[in-house]
Amino acid sequence: MLSQKENQTQSRTGKRISLNSENYYDLTTDKQYQSPTFFKKFLACEAAAMAEINGKYKPDFKKALLVGNYLHSYFESPEAHQKFIDKNQDELLSKRKPHGLLKEYKDADKIIDTLKDDDGFTKLYQGSKEVIVTGQIDGVDWKGKVDCLNLEKGYFIDLKTTQDILKVYWNSETRTKESFVAKWNYQLQMYVYKELIYQTFGVWCDPYIAAVSKQDIPDKAIISIPDERLYEAEALIDEKQSHIEDVKNGIVEPERCERCEYCILTKKLNEIVSMDDIIN
Ligand SMILES: [Zn+2]
Repeated sequence: MLSQKENQTQSRTGKRISLNSENYYDLTTDKQYQSPTFFKKFLACEAAAMAEINGKYKPDFKKALLVGNYLHSYFESPEAHQKFIDKNQDELLSKRKPHGLLKEYKDADKIIDTLKDDDGFTKLYQGSKEVIVTGQIDGVDWKGKVDCLNLEKGYFIDLKTTQDILKVYWNSETRTKESFVAKWNYQLQMYVYKELIYQTFGVWCDPYIAAVSKQDIPDKAIISIPDERLYEAEALIDEKQSHIEDVKNGIVEPERCERCEYCILTKKLNEIVSMDDIIN
């Protein structure tokens, strides 16, 4: 077992909740710790992120999260997978007879098979699983959960499922093509995890993504993150973090993006827009 230091840090804002696998995804810990997931939510829409963190808005991601945890628990250990299945039986099985596994989980089984039968993957996916790490980035407390951490060999792996590994996305802001990794800003998560692993264990580790596609025949790849992508992520946090903290602490009003589900749900028609302004 890893000699993980106590996940409790004292910061300028007071005592932090100690993190464990039970409370890691609780909103109370999201209030105290920043995480790559919430940082990205704040970048996308501050109003939606604040509403979610305050429990006023619940995006419908429960199913996607469950499918993700189903997959992760398999590669954590047989016991963890069984425990997950037992705990979530009602969600996994069809309400209709003969009450078989729902399609999402059958698809997840296909993804599992794709990885578990691959020697390259099983050799690489060695180390401690679902490791919670914490630390500070520019004075702000962050948390992370690493899928697979190999301190001896100095690397960590995050499992990702995606529609199609080779799919090219168009970034209308930078007017460039990008991969699914950049589209979902996974390099930011990898940068943060690398920092937190160093702060928790004193070892610099290389980040890898083990990606599997959700196609009928799942494609797979082990993806590295070049240093310049990690620097970009660092620069983005540098640029945006203090504003996001001000929003989170109620010092600055959150801005609405007027595009996301939350903004549409809470929209009030109190202004008129020009036909030329609705195309952006
Ligand atoms: Zn919005």
